[in-house]
Amino acid sequence: MRKKIIAGNWKMNLTLDEGQKLTSEIVNMYKDEKISDVTVVLNPPFPHIFPVKKLIGDTPGVFVGAQNCSDKDSGAYTGEVSANIIASFGAEYVIIGHSERREYFKEDNELLSVKVKKALENGLIPIFCCGESLEIREAGTHEPNVKFQLTDSLFDLSAEDIQKVVIAYEPIWAIGTGKTATADQAQEMHFALRRHLGAKYGKDVAAEISILYGGSMKPDNAVELLSKPDVDGGLIGGASLKSRDFIDIVKSY
Ligand code: PEP
Repeated sequence: MRKKIIAGNWKMNLTLDEGQKLTSEIVNMYKDEKISDVTVVLNPPFPHIFPVKKLIGDTPGVFVGAQNCSDKDSGAYTGEVSANIIASFGAEYVIIGHSERREYFKEDNELLSVKVKKALENGLIPIFCCGESLEIREAGTHEPNVKFQLTDSLFDLSAEDIQKVVIAYEPIWAIGTGKTATADQAQEMHFALRRHLGAKYGKDVAAEISILYGGSMKPDNAVELLSKPDVDGGLIGGASLKSRDFIDIVKSY
């Protein structure tokens, strides 16, 4: 059965001390409150990966990931970090194609396709983000638009590799805006994406792929969103910076 995953995206926030405090609180709550059936992934800025990994230790069910990786293997690419380097510091996941990277760093489907492959080649699990703008939602073309993001970046993967990918549906109009998609809107898109994956790879393969929802998920709306059959977890921005809120989302399952 596919995994239930709650992933935190710290974005460009928190100093070393703040990140260590947040990680310790999350790990302690996860253990003390006896959570075991939900996988937790913390995605801090790059320099935090090693200390976060050390604090997680061998806690089962809690992992660390990066927020991005290079499309290159190594070499003269100042400021870039390869999937190989990320993996060598103990990370297990990497977010790829977040809408902020697509918008501010002009990352397109073709580049993201390469990044997904680099992640997989280095044993990292890509959390592949997709989602539509408000304009596209209002035009009613959101479903083909998001399906195409999957087709263009992921559909040259083998059936074996696609099952290793986690998908995060994040409507851009809901990220950091306080405006959440309704649980029905999320379910509708997740169902459409799973059917799209099924048409290419078969129903059994599609059934194994975790599809997370992201966009202003908070403790007070998580229960409803996570109760939907095709919503397999969440990618959490703002609320992942507060240990109690983040763990309360984890416990909403
Ligand atoms: C995100 O950045 O992936 C995100 C979902 O942010 P927020 O939860 O703050 O909307």
